[in-house]
Amino acid sequence: MPTKPLDRLMFAQGELCFFCKKPLSKNEASVEHLVASANGGSNNDENCVACCKAVNALLGSMSLKEKIQVVLNQQGQFKCPNGTGSAKVVTQTKAAPKTPAGAESKEDRIPLVIANLKQRGNAKPRTLKTLTSTIASLFAKALSEAELTALVQQLESTGKISVVENKVTYVL
Ligand SMILES: [Zn+2]
Repeated sequence: MPTKPLDRLMFAQGELCFFCKKPLSKNEASVEHLVASANGGSNNDENCVACCKAVNALLGSMSLKEKIQVVLNQQGQFKCPNGTGSAKVVTQTKAAPKTPAGAESKEDRIPLVIANLKQRGNAKPRTLKTLTSTIASLFAKALSEAELTALVQQLESTGKISVVENKVTYVL
């Protein structure tokens, strides 16, 4: 049975960093007191985690509130600031502003539209107008008129639909 605090914590965490969940080697690991010793935090396992030395150095003697803030500021996966020794990494890992679901890039749109149309079976939009508004709501009305027109044109030019006198037929 491991007895040193670091050994115990690493064992309990499956040899993974408490914060970033990356495999932690013993010489990269350190014991982080969640409530800092300077703030009266205990040495018991319930107040301690094993984590990358870099994040331990970054958190230092922050208050628990500040530490939670750092964790919450990591949008998406938590990354310990390994290798840089700088707290700047905390801001660099912020995710880009979110775009509406499925509208990330133009390349992603056509497959989404086709998948949605296929799901509709025989209830597909029959006119150009309803098709356009169907696509508009699919992207939560985040696309411009020009982008919608371009999408419909792309469906037509790739042979997925054919439009005759505003009536749409599907070749999906
Ligand atoms: Zn880590």
